[in-house]
Amino acid sequence: MLRIGCHLSSSGGFLAMAETAESIGASTFQFFTRNPRGGAAKEWKKDDVQAMLEYFEQTGIGMPLAHAPYTLNACAKDENIRKFALETMEDDLKRLEMIPGAMYNFHPGSHVGQGAEKGIELIADTLNRVLQEDMHTTVLLETMAGKGSEVGRRFEELRAVIDRVELSGRLGVCLDTCHVWDGGYDIVEDLDGVLEEFDNVLGLDRLKAVHLNDSMNQLGSHKDRHQKIGMGCIGAEAFQKIVTCPELRELPFYLETPNELEGYQAEIALLKRMYEEETA
Ligand code: FE
Ligand code: FE
Ligand code: ZN
Repeated sequence: MLRIGCHLSSSGGFLAMAETAESIGASTFQFFTRNPRGGAAKEWKKDDVQAMLEYFEQTGIGMPLAHAPYTLNACAKDENIRKFALETMEDDLKRLEMIPGAMYNFHPGSHVGQGAEKGIELIADTLNRVLQEDMHTTVLLETMAGKGSEVGRRFEELRAVIDRVELSGRLGVCLDTCHVWDGGYDIVEDLDGVLEEFDNVLGLDRLKAVHLNDSMNQLGSHKDRHQKIGMGCIGAEAFQKIVTCPELRELPFYLETPNELEGYQAEIALLKRMYEEETA
């Protein structure tokens, strides 16, 4: 079965997200741990989280993917910005212990002129401070488009971060289809080659989740503008291969396309049809 969901607003709480997921045919979902632009998180109510976990048991909806605010920059030049990233990640990971087995995705960061090498070092420092041996959350580094000075455009950069982290067993990777495409990996003409490269550099066992987004821009554009599935430069055919290929099909997929709930519902139905057609 295809495990697929989309990004949902957390403003109504946890149970509400799970119910929304169910209502649009999703079997998992992603949410921001707090305002995506950063700042203080609302309290996570124990009862609400508990009700969500029970709802998961009843419906088979799978563990959600928590997304850190995308403005976090663990490798900023400014020490205060780095400190904010560190404290936010610490707080998020502490909260996520309420949802044991959840995954936590973050954008590695932008080195803002310090160079990728320095950026990698600073990201690893942050991870070395926030990861704990006894935590129940897997932390995912997201593959990035390489916009500006983003770290994580090349698989090698993620590898270099992982290599510097002591508790690297707690780390995984989330592959964003729009980002890798914009980053220069041709998942349209050579999906197998890209996955082989991923396997050689990072190991496919590190791959824990996929962000499914079409792209408004061409291969290697380094832009990071998401498009609806089948309406961008990646195209529907490539997505059918992505959700059905043996290396990816068991992973959870999360849509972050420019859509309201109705649009997500339609995309989920489309991708399920593609999956069934191919695997029947
Ligand atoms: Fe992201
Ligand atoms: Fe993403
Ligand atoms: Zn993006």
